[in-house]
Amino acid sequence: MKITAVKTATLAGYKDWNLVRLETDRGIAGIGEAYPGEGIAELITRRLAPLLVGRDPRDVEPLYNHMVAGTIGQSTAGGMLAAISGVETALWDVAGKAMGVPVYRLLGGHYRDRIRLYADVGRGRNSTDTPEAWAQRAREGVADGFGAIKFDIDHSADEFQHDAVNRGLGLQELDKMTALVEAVREAVGPEVDVCIDCHGIYGVRDAGLLAERLEPFDLMFLEDPVPPENPEAMAKVTSSTSIPICTGEFVHRRDGFRPLIQNQACDMLHVDVSSTGGMLEAKKIADLADLYYMPFAAHNITSPIGMTAAAHVCAAVRNLHTMELPYHADQVAWRWDLVESTTALVEGGEFAVPDRPGLGVELNEDVARRHLKEGYGLFAE
Ligand SMILES: [Mg+2]
Repeated sequence: MKITAVKTATLAGYKDWNLVRLETDRGIAGIGEAYPGEGIAELITRRLAPLLVGRDPRDVEPLYNHMVAGTIGQSTAGGMLAAISGVETALWDVAGKAMGVPVYRLLGGHYRDRIRLYADVGRGRNSTDTPEAWAQRAREGVADGFGAIKFDIDHSADEFQHDAVNRGLGLQELDKMTALVEAVREAVGPEVDVCIDCHGIYGVRDAGLLAERLEPFDLMFLEDPVPPENPEAMAKVTSSTSIPICTGEFVHRRDGFRPLIQNQACDMLHVDVSSTGGMLEAKKIADLADLYYMPFAAHNITSPIGMTAAAHVCAAVRNLHTMELPYHADQVAWRWDLVESTTALVEGGEFAVPDRPGLGVELNEDVARRHLKEGYGLFAE
């Protein structure tokens, strides 16, 4: 079995959604998705496709390492690693279809067939940051069946900011942020999990002050309170609060996660399959974390194709915590029409992992064609 072509389609979704199609001489085609963003489709067709044509797509791990080695100097993070991650996912889809099994079987088998989701609601409707707007959005998420929701607290009180870049938080900012989270907790009651994301913009001391303010609200996790690049700084925040600290969406490959895990610098990981190196790399990161009994959650801002790939990984890792559903992308009215599946993917706050061969979903090409980014084709040569 040989790869004959690697093609892309970039859709105007919540962001640029970068789909990959890998074609073979056996008539089997695989689909994957790279992390959203501009320029990634071009990296796939110009840089990665020449490394893959003529190779056996079932050699997924060797081909992953071949792509990393073939783009040395660019392949340990960023756009190139996102491109590699999307292609790796498409390789798994082909391998699963060729062997007649779902991808989770090839990753070691599944611990579960339904994945607990948390809904990333972002902010209040229309990016409104008031206690009432946050409470209302939280109630909407719960009404849609989600038992866990996440808000972005960074920039929610910028009107009180003393300095835009110094990583600090003033008392009025802290007061407003506390009121936002308090309103959410009051709105959803004690049984719904609430998570808060800071996107890594605070310093250690001020992140610690924020965590102290938020401790009474029983958060499921506080995400990226400080930038993730300094594990010692992350560890200081982690040890200073009872709130579980979560990080990882900006961290890449096992090499990036190793210091966070080995130094126990956070309480749990948040790994993005579409950017960190693909499905097997994410599974290996989860296994490394499991040596320290740390939970693994999946970060997601892709279309349902990438979400399905993440769900297969979540099914196959022992230490699964939750998977993110980018609920704030619900303004993309057509996103669930993009995939054809014999079963409903999201139901009752859970993702039902397809059990058909490969990823178990197919792209609805008519829907994809209608939503191509301007200037892009659908898997054109
Ligand atoms: Mg985040």
